[in-house]
Amino acid sequence: MIKTDILIIGAGPTGLFTVFEAGLLKLKCHLIDALPQAGGQCTELYPKKPIYDIPAYPEIMAGDLTLKLLEQCKQFQPGFTLGERAETIEKQEDGSFIVTTNKGTQHQAPVVAIAGGLGSFEPRKPLIHNITDYEDNGVEYMIKDPEMYRGKRVVIAGGGDSALDWSIFLSDIASEVTLIHRRNEFRGHLDSVDKVQELKNLGKINLITPAEVTGIVGHEKVAAVVVSQAAHIEKEFELECDHFIPLFGLSPKLGPIANWGLEIEKNAIKVDNCLDYQTNIPGIFAIGDVNIYPGKLKLILCGFHEATLMCQSAYQIINPGKRYVLKYTTVAGVDGFDGTRK
Ligand code: FAD
Repeated sequence: MIKTDILIIGAGPTGLFTVFEAGLLKLKCHLIDALPQAGGQCTELYPKKPIYDIPAYPEIMAGDLTLKLLEQCKQFQPGFTLGERAETIEKQEDGSFIVTTNKGTQHQAPVVAIAGGLGSFEPRKPLIHNITDYEDNGVEYMIKDPEMYRGKRVVIAGGGDSALDWSIFLSDIASEVTLIHRRNEFRGHLDSVDKVQELKNLGKINLITPAEVTGIVGHEKVAAVVVSQAAHIEKEFELECDHFIPLFGLSPKLGPIANWGLEIEKNAIKVDNCLDYQTNIPGIFAIGDVNIYPGKLKLILCGFHEATLMCQSAYQIINPGKRYVLKYTTVAGVDGFDGTRK
């Protein structure tokens, strides 16, 4: 059981900044994210796009903003459960909550901050009838640890940046990399397309286009995929492999949080915006893109503001009756905290 003061669901910009604000109040945080890395939409959807409305940064790449947020909150040593989706929540007699992920990891905290953005990103799966039988037994929809492919035969399907970038990366790790795409043209960056061609010419990537994976073969574990070549649909063949990684993108869904008894409106969580972004369940807050209230704007800086106010209320829940006087971060804020950054 992982125990913390504030359990944050979602390690996007709002969740990461919550760690910093909570840290100033000497509250410990642990973050859960369904994605294998922090950064939410900034990392998953547009890491190379500049953002122009972060105060004091005339321009910053979304990926760099994530790195800065991680650097800023590192001093407060947050815990991370990455690549796992928060699935259920149970209120305990002492008022705390236990949140369990889809992998069974349990977390307990007196305060839960849902910073789930557009929801957890669910992989778009190819239409292969038995694909779920092989999930985590050779079929993976995102790459959490490239080392697990060392010396293995890997088939990647997809035509975007993820498929291209991972094919390039794994060509140095896996014993065999095959990239399969249903068109001859790729949607990814030109640089990456050129690099894949180069590696194909060097015999380091096996490129099959236009083609699709239409079946999986294997006893309990992936042993081969069935490849159908679009140009000659009758031409189907089995390609032996250890892993099949379809990288067709991720689509966000509010997911299991929608069943937690929270008031939902327009696929977002209703909160009290007069005070602290608390939901209809005391002790559970919703901040950032995931919440809704009159005048809501889905912007990063709004998430930062909401996180800041939410932490003040979390402090009162965790330290009932303890007086707290808000001061600037460079001045003593909490008993015993001298405001210096470690
Ligand atoms: P998110 O970034 O969505 O992060 C939420 C995280 O929660 C995700 O990582 C998700 O995996 C996780 N999660 C959700 N549910 C669960 C669960 N059950 N279990 C585990 N994890 C879960 N905003 C600006 O201010 N300026 C801009 O210029 C700008 N440009 C944008 C451009 C694009 C193309 C897009 C798509 C958005 C842009 N935005 C911009 C909006 C901005 O990205 C969002 O406002 C911001 O990402 C919201 O942050 P968040 O932390 O609230 O949510």
